[in-house]
Amino acid sequence: MSDVSGTQRLYYYDAALRRFSATIVALGDGGRRVYLDRSAFYPTSGGQPHDTGLLADIAVLDVVDEGERVAHCLAEPIGLPVGAMVVGQVDSARRQDFMQQHTAQHLLSALLTDRYGWPTVSVHFGDATSTVDVSGVEGLSSAQLARIEREVNEAILANHAVSVSYEEAATAGDLRKASDRDGVLRIVSIEGLDRSACGGTHVSRTGELGMLLLRGAEKTRGHTRIEYVCGGRAVSRARADAELLARTARPLSAAPEDLPLLVPRQLERLAEQDAEIRRLRKALAGYEAQALWQQAVPDASGIRRVRHDVDGPVKDAEPLAQACIALGHCVMLVTSRTTGGVLIATAADSVVDAGVSLKAALQVVGGRGGGSPRLAQGSVPDIARLPELLSALGF
Ligand SMILES: [Zn+2]
Repeated sequence: MSDVSGTQRLYYYDAALRRFSATIVALGDGGRRVYLDRSAFYPTSGGQPHDTGLLADIAVLDVVDEGERVAHCLAEPIGLPVGAMVVGQVDSARRQDFMQQHTAQHLLSALLTDRYGWPTVSVHFGDATSTVDVSGVEGLSSAQLARIEREVNEAILANHAVSVSYEEAATAGDLRKASDRDGVLRIVSIEGLDRSACGGTHVSRTGELGMLLLRGAEKTRGHTRIEYVCGGRAVSRARADAELLARTARPLSAAPEDLPLLVPRQLERLAEQDAEIRRLRKALAGYEAQALWQQAVPDASGIRRVRHDVDGPVKDAEPLAQACIALGHCVMLVTSRTTGGVLIATAADSVVDAGVSLKAALQVVGGRGGGSPRLAQGSVPDIARLPELLSALGF
């Protein structure tokens, strides 16, 4: 790694360049990290993700901006020495996609600042969607979002030229955001709309953006984050949304446009049915309790001991137990055949403290539980020990 001269960045001058030849000037990481005298590969910088593609027919996994130089990280060693000529091929679809997202951001940021007074504080270009964080927003309605979206799309359709110029920082005027760099600035202009210092790759006319779709806005750390997709992403996102709506509407035998009315109506019906089920369950528990209470034979002191087995959790039988003890002179014990759970409920006139007696009985079998004088719950560590617990409780 003796050569420290810089990499000539071909993407600065020709964003459409995809295939190029160059000379290897240095190697690292056993030949997996390659430095060239010039490159069309865009390294991750300014929020725009790096290109991928092929270098000497080997996959380029990452492209790193090291200041003066650009490092190309390959899937395997290049197998060529310093001084060799290589051909690089940038993945066109990925580059075109990020050029669209990036240029759309310039356009969106320009419009949000000029027409709404909301300057962009940060941007992010993601694999699925991109975002701009803006400041000064008081509130953003969906109607406003729709209007901004329409305005951006009008600017796209107007097919403004996007051009790159190099100007001295000291004399470069009308920049959207003042640059803190000295010397020559690379300025990206959208004809009549925007001038920004930027080192990224952009389309050459706004018409190449196709369309822009705003996905929504949310408050984030004092700013407002606006999410968008552009170009091919806007089409595939709209297609995915249409599929999603159709799939949601199908089981309801409805048209997608009927969903906003239909779904709340269905939820309301469901809530009504839930309330009805609860009412019926309570009534049923009353009838079942009466039958169980009548079947149990009162002991010498007139107390009926009612035993009930369930398959699920004992808690589900609580309404039944409550209904049973409401009939008076009764102790009800619910056990679960599957969980080893125990529930004991006692009528006030039974003179049995549910919490105290269950706790004492559980101590015998090493279980855990407790509760109030009228209702207690617990469980045995092993279902095989349930009979022991029952006899400790006098059942
Ligand atoms: Zn840019």
